[in-house]
Amino acid sequence: MAYLELKGINKIYPNGFHAVHDFNLEIEKGEFIVFVGPSGCGKSTTLRMIAGLEDISKGEFLIDGKRANELGPRQREVAMVFQSYALYPQLTVFDNLGYGLTLQGVDEDEIEEKVLNVAGILGLTDYLDRYPRALSGGQRQRVAVGRAIIRKVGVFLMDEPLSNLDAKQRVTMRSEITNIHRTTGATTIYVTHDQTEAMTMADRIVVMKEGVVQQIGTPKELYFDPVNTFVAGFIGEPPMNFIKSHVNGGCIKIGENTLDLKASFADKIGKYEGKDIIFGFRPESVIPMGTEKSYSMKCTVELTEMLGDNTNVYVNIGDDKAILKVNPHNTPAMDSEMEFSVPYDAAYLFDAETEMRIV
Ligand code: ATP
Repeated sequence: MAYLELKGINKIYPNGFHAVHDFNLEIEKGEFIVFVGPSGCGKSTTLRMIAGLEDISKGEFLIDGKRANELGPRQREVAMVFQSYALYPQLTVFDNLGYGLTLQGVDEDEIEEKVLNVAGILGLTDYLDRYPRALSGGQRQRVAVGRAIIRKVGVFLMDEPLSNLDAKQRVTMRSEITNIHRTTGATTIYVTHDQTEAMTMADRIVVMKEGVVQQIGTPKELYFDPVNTFVAGFIGEPPMNFIKSHVNGGCIKIGENTLDLKASFADKIGKYEGKDIIFGFRPESVIPMGTEKSYSMKCTVELTEMLGDNTNVYVNIGDDKAILKVNPHNTPAMDSEMEFSVPYDAAYLFDAETEMRIV
């Protein structure tokens, strides 16, 4: 039996807006689950229903096999870290960390022991006497996380906890949160719109769009086996290239290039004869021209971005555009013509009408 179960969960706000549709998910004890999707897709709403901060309009939420819909936040034994991690400005780091325990009537010695322990885990030992105003954004964030993990709860819920940090701090905190998860082993549900956070931290990712779960899987499954163009385009940076084309004799034309899709999609392409499909490939999966088992294309270089470890090359293939990631030592000149290949096993096809993956 899963630890947490969301069965056909829906949220319809009082104004009639249907924010979450039939959300189904089983979460095992100790898992790190990330809800990811663009702004407004219903991630926070779902998290708040799990926390007990928002009513569930339809469906059932179970903890350890027992219905929890009617339980208040405290009875659910969850701790939540919000986007705006409001610390108490008049309290020191020590008191901020211990505040929840004080409210629970835990005795002082025990509070001290727990605060010192959590401060040790989070690298806050030297800051215990400081007030929040004298901390950096990253340190404040750690106090907010510390306040959540100091209570022994079954589940940590985090809503965009890194969004107020700068890029460098985010990278540091990302690995700190992963480490905390490893040490505490606590079941965690983490909300973000950032695919990198999702990919680097999650055991499993739930990709959402407009209140509907698109796909649930490990980072690897979502990257290599996306179910539709939305997931394929959301996971991966730069996003997957998509080029729409008409199937004629099992072939498609992209710019001046003819790709014989029968070569690698033999049994699947037949039923798309005379229809539009979307050809997809990731910027990082292109290779220099020439290998046999690949689709080769000529294109014109519009712009290059040297990033150090690789170069992003923006190209025009006829009227279509694509981004290619190439070795910085092979950066092509702007406006030059170049050729590249997409290995058969790195090419994706999507139904142009439904946007669902064909292969
Ligand atoms: P973000 O990343 O911007 O926080 P999100 O994916 O977490 O986005 P939610 O906050 O869950 O999105 O909101 C989902 C949808 O529900 C949005 O369209 C939002 O406008 C709407 N919504 C949120 N709260 C309410 C409310 N109280 N009444 C009506 N609609 C709401």
